[in-house]
Amino acid sequence: MNESLEISLKLQNPFNDTIVALATPPGVGAIGVIRVSGKETIPLVNEIFYGKDLTKCESHTISYGTIRTEKETILDEVLVSLFKTPTSYTTEDVIEISTHGSSYIIQKVIDLIISKGARLAKPGEFTQRAFINGRFDLAQAEAVADLIASENASMQQTAMRQMRGGFSDEIKKLRERLVHFASMIELELDFSEEDVEFADRKDLEKLVKEILDTLSPLIQSFKWGNVIKNGVPVVIAGKPNAGKSTLLNALLNEQRAIVSEIAGTTRDVIEDQLTIEGITFRFMDTAGLREASDTIEALGVEKTQQKLKEASLIIYLIDLTEAHMDEVNDDLRPILETGTPLIVIGNKTDLLSEHQLDEWMKHHPILPMAAKSKEGIVELKQLLVTKIKEDQVAADQTIVTNSRHYQSLIKTDEALMKVLLAITENVSGDFLAQDIREALHHLGEVTGQVTTDDLLDNIFSKFCIGK
Ligand code: GDP
Repeated sequence: MNESLEISLKLQNPFNDTIVALATPPGVGAIGVIRVSGKETIPLVNEIFYGKDLTKCESHTISYGTIRTEKETILDEVLVSLFKTPTSYTTEDVIEISTHGSSYIIQKVIDLIISKGARLAKPGEFTQRAFINGRFDLAQAEAVADLIASENASMQQTAMRQMRGGFSDEIKKLRERLVHFASMIELELDFSEEDVEFADRKDLEKLVKEILDTLSPLIQSFKWGNVIKNGVPVVIAGKPNAGKSTLLNALLNEQRAIVSEIAGTTRDVIEDQLTIEGITFRFMDTAGLREASDTIEALGVEKTQQKLKEASLIIYLIDLTEAHMDEVNDDLRPILETGTPLIVIGNKTDLLSEHQLDEWMKHHPILPMAAKSKEGIVELKQLLVTKIKEDQVAADQTIVTNSRHYQSLIKTDEALMKVLLAITENVSGDFLAQDIREALHHLGEVTGQVTTDDLLDNIFSKFCIGK
């Protein structure tokens, strides 16, 4: 890190107090890691640590020693990792103490550090300091939370890409160029009586189009980003006794839903999830789609309609032993009308002759299945992944997973469209400047160049303590 950056980071670090929190999950583990950050970190920990003199240790070193209580009794043998400003997570002096995992020891060490002058950190406060001290922008700080919460390969990769810069750099560069135009136009306003044009409208138009082209795939990617973050909601629909519960059990490989021989006994919506090739599918097993004959069943049907609307993918199950070939299309009509991607399964093939199955396959593009014996399950899992990937973005594309970013990108897009219109209609500089300022504002919201305290509190309070 060069000297001037170092100085500017030091000048920026606006926090006077030193904070402490457990960084590992609460409860008993092999070790617990306690994180301390702030100006007094090193002398403060040095007071309770017996081993090397921490004030004389180099940055990025680990020292072995003991932590002792006021009465000098040994509380624990620990390792102390030292990170000096500015090359630490928060850019402040940071120490991480690895203790044995006893919650008693951990609490005692934290109490000791507080008694020496630190205070307990608020949720997300380490990451908030990293952001305010200029180590990350806001989108990157939020990616830290996503990375910690990631449960499958896609979530992890998307969060990691964003944490390492992702779309932030590109947005910041485009924003800087737009700031330049905004200031040129503001300058024109100062000289309004002389009718000069500092900002070339053709160049401005070109830049605005470039930004719109950059934002468009990001905005589009949100649908996919949401899928990565929250899973693909899948509804399994079909008439009672078609085998929906059996299919769900076969997919999840265990007895989650109640399988019953009495028609319409799956009264509640049962949700469960399954990860295939890094994509999480959330299955919603539902009551039958037929006309309701009693109130409890009616409740189930209502929920089904609701779930159909929420689904990203519908699996429709036909009982091939019961269904009539020429009625299937009528049954499917309300589902096709939703426009949601659909997989139609012909179930209970084990009860059909080869000839009967051939007839079905000739008339309907169904996936043959015998859910009871799990025949066709492997093919279904493959098809689920293919269906979802079909209309999705390329693997190396930047993906927006955060709805706050999405909302800001949409608003930027709207403001930029107004700028384009203003250029075409040759409106006066002050209106143009206003539209550009609006676009700059929303673009700055994504990376945190424009923030409010409320927004920051809201974002960081969702983190755990110790992050
Ligand atoms: P749901 O009402 O759609 O949830 O249907 P269930 O999963 O409760 O299944 C209704 C009945 O069909 C049960 O007796 C299942 O054992 C049976 N069943 C489900 N799938 C198959 C299959 O592939 N072959 C056969 N022979 N029976 C099945």
